[in-house]
Amino acid sequence: MVSKIKVIPIAFDSLGVRSMATFVETADTTVFIDPSAALCPRRYGLPPHQIEIEELENALNRIASVAENAEIIVITHYHYDHHNPNFPELVNGKIVFLKHPRDHINVSQRIRAARFLKLIESKAKPKGIEYADDRSIKIGDTIIRFSTPVPHGINDRLGYVIMVSIKYENETFLFTSDVEGPSLDEQTRIILRENPSLILLDGPMTYMLGYRYPMSALQNTLNNLKEIVSKTQVETIIIDHHFMRDLEYKKYVKEMQSIMPRKISIISAAEFLGKEPLLLEARRKELYSIN
Ligand SMILES: [Zn+2]
Ligand SMILES: [Zn+2]
Repeated sequence: MVSKIKVIPIAFDSLGVRSMATFVETADTTVFIDPSAALCPRRYGLPPHQIEIEELENALNRIASVAENAEIIVITHYHYDHHNPNFPELVNGKIVFLKHPRDHINVSQRIRAARFLKLIESKAKPKGIEYADDRSIKIGDTIIRFSTPVPHGINDRLGYVIMVSIKYENETFLFTSDVEGPSLDEQTRIILRENPSLILLDGPMTYMLGYRYPMSALQNTLNNLKEIVSKTQVETIIIDHHFMRDLEYKKYVKEMQSIMPRKISIISAAEFLGKEPLLLEARRKELYSIN
């Protein structure tokens, strides 16, 4: 089936860097969600390997060139893998929808948001900067909806994110941002309400299972995914970001597949593009041992 909403993952954990940068195109508009990328400062006690540093540079170059074709830029929250204060020129002449910089936000993101707004205010399209939380806009036959803020992960310790849905005719693309699951009812409710055909999901943080990500959160996530598949029209779930920092991810995909009420495609962003996943952060120890 040819999709009317074109979704192109640009930079992702399964493409070698921490990111959820996604370009979306309909007949009416072009949207670039979370155009940034970053590396984990320390994994297994090691700093980023040279190969990761090179991949980050490639990813940031791809992001800069894709951004030229975007009419709308969306920033779902103020972590550096989702917004890039070192390259405010990316928003030159564009409409920018941002997570509210002062409402439902933790201290560190509030400080980053204020700084980022200052950097982009002279660059975005005049009067083109808008707070996105709980808003919806219509461009031709395309409806873009931004959710109310939901916790970043299993609680609000890391602040809040907004989800983005883009609807065109009978198709809806939903971008969850950093939900690390969805393990919470409030995150799941929004996904159910949007009735997406394609979901780009920040999956459970299994690489911290039993440590910063409790077993109960994984169980809740599995239950919520099952409910989403039974109650929406979803055909494909692209699962990535926190989920692809675990070398054992295939085991969890199998488990998800096994509990689903119907056949559904659950794949990484790399696989969605027809590529093999390129896990670098998760393989950092190995990268150091061979180079
Ligand atoms: Zn985040
Ligand atoms: Zn993130």
